[in-house]
Amino acid sequence: CGIVGYVGDRSAQEVVIEGLRRMEYRGYDSAGIALVRAAEGTLAVDKRAGKLSNLEKSISEDPLPASTTGIGHTRWATHGAPNDVNAHPHLGAVRRVAVVHNGIIENFADLRARLEADDHLLLSETDTEVTAHLLELQVESGVDLTTAMQRVCQRLEGAFTLVAVDAQDPDRVVAARRNSPLVVGLGEGENFLGSDVAAFIEHTREALELGQDQVVTITRDGVSVTGFDGVPAEGRRYHVDWDLSA
Ligand code: GLU
Repeated sequence: CGIVGYVGDRSAQEVVIEGLRRMEYRGYDSAGIALVRAAEGTLAVDKRAGKLSNLEKSISEDPLPASTTGIGHTRWATHGAPNDVNAHPHLGAVRRVAVVHNGIIENFADLRARLEADDHLLLSETDTEVTAHLLELQVESGVDLTTAMQRVCQRLEGAFTLVAVDAQDPDRVVAARRNSPLVVGLGEGENFLGSDVAAFIEHTREALELGQDQVVTITRDGVSVTGFDGVPAEGRRYHVDWDLSA
């Protein structure tokens, strides 16, 4: 329901939790976060059913590592009960790729059956988890996460905003959208992704709205947009004129 992505110099945990907090008004049943541990090339993940405070409590009992790259999600369940396992982020088989998703992947059952026929073990009942496995198969085959996202999106039907990280590529966060909103927050030495400008409004008011069937890659210093076909594209740039005190 609410999505945040961050890469920069700050604590990604703080930026992500704060962004999720700002999007609580949308309603949700679970919350989760994935951070990239750059030195180890691994992911740290925590996700909990219930309020954001459940996730925060869990993190305070079992702290996450310091990280400047991360993604977060508040879930409004459509496929699978609201429990810890079904909460996002979802991971691929070797826990290299993490993904959060808003919307519905309509052809997930078919994709899931194919993955299971190839001995992939899916842990959740969500329509989302297949995308983590598919993205991870792509990066494991040697392409970068941006190319992986373009290729996987071409196989998906339905409505989705997807945001993903690759543990072995810590300075990049990649997102895509079809029939579901996605906005980039443009910072200096940092960039943000959100399903809503509320995800990053405290940090920047310079935004880039993605068009239909586009993939965006953010790094500390850059933002690049393509279509699902890989052809370079442009988002719509605008200034967010919101009164935060309202
Ligand atoms: N369909 C996904 C799920 O049920 C995403 C729901 C959402 O948009 O939060 O897990």
